[in-house]
Amino acid sequence: MKQTYRGSCHCGRVRFEVDAELDHVRVCDCSICRRRGALNHRVPPECFRLLTRLEDLSLYTFHTHTARDYFCPACGIQPFRRPRTDPGVWTVNVRCLDGVDFEAIPVRRVFGSEYP
Ligand SMILES: [Zn+2]
Repeated sequence: MKQTYRGSCHCGRVRFEVDAELDHVRVCDCSICRRRGALNHRVPPECFRLLTRLEDLSLYTFHTHTARDYFCPACGIQPFRRPRTDPGVWTVNVRCLDGVDFEAIPVRRVFGSEYP
């Protein structure tokens, strides 16, 4: 069942809400995910509400410049991104959501390093 979660960066400048059923998290081995150590969960755009202006975030792109990695310009935390393999969805870092026991969520391994 879907629940609404509130999320934020560390300093609170970036705030958002997601509606999600956190039945798994994705752990990816691509060059950026393995460095970040995020626990990812994808949600469609209608399940993601940004409470901060997107223009107030910093943006990092690389390689094909399709994935959009947004991060807080003040504290550097990256609460969400647009993934390359499905740029219409939001990939949320479950570690940035309030009240989630993320150690209890089953991990789905993703092998992003194998994508060209
Ligand atoms: Zn911040």
